[in-house]
Amino acid sequence: MILKNLVVGPLASNCYIVGSESNKEGMIIDPGDEAEVILGNVKDLGLEIKFIVLTHGHIDHIGALKEVKEATGAEVAIHTDEAKSLQRQSSSTLLGLSYPTPLSPDRLLQDGDSMDIGDLHFGVLHTPGHSPGCICLLGEGIMFSGDTLFNFGIGRTDLPGGSYSQLMNSIHTKLMILPDNTAVYPGHGPDSTIGAERRGNPFLRD
Ligand SMILES: [Zn+2]
Ligand SMILES: [Zn+2]
Repeated sequence: MILKNLVVGPLASNCYIVGSESNKEGMIIDPGDEAEVILGNVKDLGLEIKFIVLTHGHIDHIGALKEVKEATGAEVAIHTDEAKSLQRQSSSTLLGLSYPTPLSPDRLLQDGDSMDIGDLHFGVLHTPGHSPGCICLLGEGIMFSGDTLFNFGIGRTDLPGGSYSQLMNSIHTKLMILPDNTAVYPGHGPDSTIGAERRGNPFLRD
């Protein structure tokens, strides 16, 4: 698997470029900002981008969406419960940043859907709590956790549509059931593993 992590934008969001070694198909997860940097890396990796997958619709994860979609022609995929966040007016703001031009997703995701690029398969886990349509993407031994689970942290739940009880339920029922050696690549900050989080994440202790 080809994996490139780019830290983009004023909120240091993780954008991931994932590709199949077999046929060079790829996907971009959360093009938060800095479209030129993302597109430059896609070119260097020699990938044909099939999907742009959004773990959720917050501005810090979609800031470069329009430019990256126009340049790659890839399908934009987001959970059904989050799709309206792409339709926000440009005048609205969140976290001190303005929303980009509204855009319609090409594919609406549900829990259990799969996204395939080349020989790689990723399952969609619906993990509401940080926002209603948050997803995590689960591949073989690797999970992209968006703003649901961080390295020794969890997503904030004070933004519109957030719910602490939903977030904890999502983490316990969808993520903590995964094997300890599952790598965790979050929406912000360094990567981790399910085992390290199970043992050390202060929010997950009884
Ligand atoms: Zn967020
Ligand atoms: Zn974020």
